[in-house]
Amino acid sequence: MAQFDLLVRGGNVIDGTGAPARTADVAVKDGRIVALGEVNGDADREIDANGWWVAPGFIDVHCHDDIALLNTPSLDFKTAQGVTTVVCGNCGLGAAPANEHVKEFFARGIEGVLGPVKDFSWSTIGEFYDAVREAKPAPNVAFLVPHGTLRVSTMGWEHRDPTDAELGKMKDHLAEGMAAGAAGLSTGLMYVPGAFAKTEELIELNRVVAEYGGLYVSHIRNEGNGLLDSVREAIRIGEEAGTPVQISHHKASGRDNWGLTKESLPLIDAARERGVRVTMDAYPYTAASTSLAALTRNGRLVRALDPHDVMVASVKYQHEYEGKRLDEIADIMDLPVEDAVPKLLADEDQAVVAVMFIMDEADVRRVLQHPQCMIGSDGIPSPTGKPHPRLYGTFPRVLERYVRNEKLFSLEEGVRKMTQLPAKTFMLADRGEVREGAWADIVIFDASTIAEQSTYDEPRQYPTGISHVIVNGQVVVENGQVSEIPSGQFLTRP
Ligand SMILES: [Zn+2]
Repeated sequence: MAQFDLLVRGGNVIDGTGAPARTADVAVKDGRIVALGEVNGDADREIDANGWWVAPGFIDVHCHDDIALLNTPSLDFKTAQGVTTVVCGNCGLGAAPANEHVKEFFARGIEGVLGPVKDFSWSTIGEFYDAVREAKPAPNVAFLVPHGTLRVSTMGWEHRDPTDAELGKMKDHLAEGMAAGAAGLSTGLMYVPGAFAKTEELIELNRVVAEYGGLYVSHIRNEGNGLLDSVREAIRIGEEAGTPVQISHHKASGRDNWGLTKESLPLIDAARERGVRVTMDAYPYTAASTSLAALTRNGRLVRALDPHDVMVASVKYQHEYEGKRLDEIADIMDLPVEDAVPKLLADEDQAVVAVMFIMDEADVRRVLQHPQCMIGSDGIPSPTGKPHPRLYGTFPRVLERYVRNEKLFSLEEGVRKMTQLPAKTFMLADRGEVREGAWADIVIFDASTIAEQSTYDEPRQYPTGISHVIVNGQVVVENGQVSEIPSGQFLTRP
């Protein structure tokens, strides 16, 4: 019997800590890295990584793959990028705890974002996690408890504070999720019903998260002209409840608000200086993506958005609209945009996902460059249509565009933003580093050629320049071929 299961020979090893790359062999046994350096001994399988870079597998901290894990457990669009762990349940959206209200939540449009649920076979959060375990996904998975789902399941779409009994019920569900291993609580305060929650409700819920040692992750209330107050609110919630704070997909949205990250990042730095652990994630694009319904007020597109800046990414029925801008669709319908948008939403059961070209490159760069910013794709895994290219391209794009071409930060720093920083923030034990004793989540790539291939027109393209992706010691991607090996583990908070 060979000494090791796998031996990756002679690569430039980037360990995830930000330290400079060095040539080393990496030996794997029983899913973990057991030797690093000049390794003697034989292995069942050897990979010659001479001339390649060997890094910890990338951790995608901002995922909406909750249902895709059940429907497409290979999660090929993620593993092909070098992603070995996904953190789901973001933006307050999720499928548990489930009841009739939550089924209606999906029918009213959430399925456009998370995908269709074939069978709500669970009711509690723990039962949903069991369903994910049974699906045997290829990557590792961690979860956040989604506040929107907690609120809908408890009090429907009521636009008011919860009663004491309702708040108690939400806390019970949250505690059940935390006990089942969730990393923390997520909110989507731009969306209904998260938008109905006042700061005090969120502080109260976060006290439960604090008891379990979890973190608070927020799609903040307003990423446009309310950005600074919204960042302050997120920090206050964590500071008063005693939880670390992760600001999701940090950005300044809308032309009038470009440049606001010059003020939002110092708010984060100041909070950190007084001891609040605030971190953030970002995706490397100037276009955002979300459900079209969330961009409307009373059925009309919000005034700050130019209809030409909004592209329909995916719909449920009329696929001919996918890839078209709202002004073009209005022309095809022969209606003014004000009437075309509500008609489109009604015809599609609200399940329309949009891509919006609303950010400035300078803000994107400023946020990505911040030492506390990690990478999160925010990919929306629509089974049809033209999803935002971030679903397939986020991680290679950072290494191609911001590391290699623009030299915004070093390769080692880019890898740290995808590995050790997220593993520490989300408490993923023994992940995010290439070191003895860590789990063998590894990506082997060529730093001089790695490249995104997905585009807004043709998003469903795997990146190039990645030779192997390894999850818990098992090779799940080899030279662009993605397998369905059930190699992932369900990661629970330690
Ligand atoms: Zn979000």
